[in-house]
Amino acid sequence: QKNARRDNHKFLLAESQQDLSNLPQDLLSAIEEVLDSNRLEMRYQPKVDVRTKTVVSVEALVRWPADHALALATTVLIDTVERCGLIELLTMRVFNQVLAQHVAWRAAGMNMLVWVNLSARLLSHEQLPKILERALSIWNVPASSIGLEITESALIHDIEHTTNLLFELKNLGFHLSIDDFGTGYSSLAYLRRFPIDELKIDRMFIHGMTESSADKQIVQSIIGLGHNFGLPVVAEGVEEAHTLAALEAMGCDQIQGYFFAKPMPGEALIEWCRNFHGK
Ligand code: C2E
Ligand code: MG
Ligand code: MG
Ligand code: MG
Repeated sequence: QKNARRDNHKFLLAESQQDLSNLPQDLLSAIEEVLDSNRLEMRYQPKVDVRTKTVVSVEALVRWPADHALALATTVLIDTVERCGLIELLTMRVFNQVLAQHVAWRAAGMNMLVWVNLSARLLSHEQLPKILERALSIWNVPASSIGLEITESALIHDIEHTTNLLFELKNLGFHLSIDDFGTGYSSLAYLRRFPIDELKIDRMFIHGMTESSADKQIVQSIIGLGHNFGLPVVAEGVEEAHTLAALEAMGCDQIQGYFFAKPMPGEALIEWCRNFHGK
């Protein structure tokens, strides 16, 4: 198994060949062409501090080009790209666009922490820290300006490997977040071991809060859990004022969602931040 991981590129290709038969060829060609011509678009969604109502950071979310003949939801794009072995390429495209955007914002006087989503499939890629580090040095951006969001389910797949990887990424200076927390059944022991900076509650629970007292209790528990570990807790998918109020009362630290802002183009963010006074 160690050897399989060492030979990771071939490993991914071999895996992808099995999956490719299920994927329409024209979809694969379209994705390859968009990746090759670097036409993926990025959107950025603020994370807002509940108490001060200020923007703490933004999350980068990839979008299929709007002017393409095909329409492709981000979740479908990511899933397909993972299955056909192109996730490494997509991630590098995304990472480089994010770094370019960070540099542009910085030149305009805005030093913004940006979170990037890392696909589960990528965690077994041995070169990951090196590849990220190389991109940072090319753009001259410190790792401390970048956060990595990793889903809970991705982390618990191979705990020993993930723990080492997280420490390696943390030592490089990246901020680390556990995304979609509450959906992956991780044990408390692992939470204690992981060098993470944030818990992010899955939006399924946030949406469920209004109608389900069980979901509300889960949210309250995650907030308590995070705080017991000294971690700030972020709620994603907040759409309504009453949800914000409930989360505020529960002591949630940061809010992300359509209530404050939809994911927006990088050029729009500076203006948005300037006009944002907590709503
Ligand atoms: P995620 O990281 O959990 O991102 C949260 C998703 O919730 C995003 O969907 C975001 O647009 C959406 N969202 C934010 N606020 C609200 C709200 O108030 N209401 C509702 N209904 N939705 C809200 P999106 O952009 O479609 O991304 C879906 C997933 O795809 C992400 O989930 C993430 O796992 C993955 N993804 C997105 N961009 C990237 C990327 O660049 N690389 C990788 N590997 N995965 C990505
Ligand atoms: Mg995320
Ligand atoms: Mg999430
Ligand atoms: Mg989610």
